[in-house]
Amino acid sequence: MSRSEHREVAWDRLKAHELRALADEDAVVIFPVAATEQHGPHLPTMTDTRIGAEVARRAAQKAFARQPTVVAPVVFAGLSGHHMPFGGTLTLDHETFIAVVQCLIRSAVHHGFRKILLSNSHGGNILAMQFAADRMAQETGAAIVATTYASEGAAAIAPILEDQAGIMHAGEGETSMMLALEPDLVDASDLAALNTDRGRGFLYAGQASYRWRPFQHMTGNGVSGLPAKASAEKGERLLDAASDAIAALITDPETWADPQDKRGPDVGNVPFRR
Ligand SMILES: [Zn+2]
Repeated sequence: MSRSEHREVAWDRLKAHELRALADEDAVVIFPVAATEQHGPHLPTMTDTRIGAEVARRAAQKAFARQPTVVAPVVFAGLSGHHMPFGGTLTLDHETFIAVVQCLIRSAVHHGFRKILLSNSHGGNILAMQFAADRMAQETGAAIVATTYASEGAAAIAPILEDQAGIMHAGEGETSMMLALEPDLVDASDLAALNTDRGRGFLYAGQASYRWRPFQHMTGNGVSGLPAKASAEKGERLLDAASDAIAALITDPETWADPQDKRGPDVGNVPFRR
């Protein structure tokens, strides 16, 4: 593959002057945010980090010709307090996670980047990630977008999965992607024994309300979902679908468009722009 066909997208493999040039090209910076945490008895603790980095890398390569994109090293620790009882879990607290994400965004903006994508692969990070995005959008004026591949790619992911509607913790989807990426690290000897049908989920109260719960509130083995039908072939398709969805988000100009100002000049004789 020639250099012109495939530009380097990894921030930490590039030199500083090459990153200055990417800022001049108005490149998108992806900050993958993930977790190092228990993933049942069959998957390694790197699962969210490995999948999140891979989705971001593939998305950047797919998007690059239309929208230059560079991927920062993955943030390997997130908000995993609900997984601590199962061991093997490295968690930050909310204030630290938000502070880390904000410092990374400020660094990129300092170097002239104006399009920032927080690309998340761990459900526990979503609320705090959006908090940081809200703050940084208002503080820096840059375009800050927060996404989680399992949600952004949900429509493309659903038909690939046989036993689940979407990505769950250590279930069919994550096990498949890890079989594709790190087969030597997956214990696939008895996946059927790990099936945990979580039903409605464990973070709900009432009709549409939220309450925090530790993970053992729902599962005895650290798994949420049905890993029995996992396969490497399915994992490759899932990684492709997820990175397609993130690449589409990156290359859609609307994603980075400035906020509109629809305040009327004189509606009902009231001047809204003053
Ligand atoms: Zn996971």
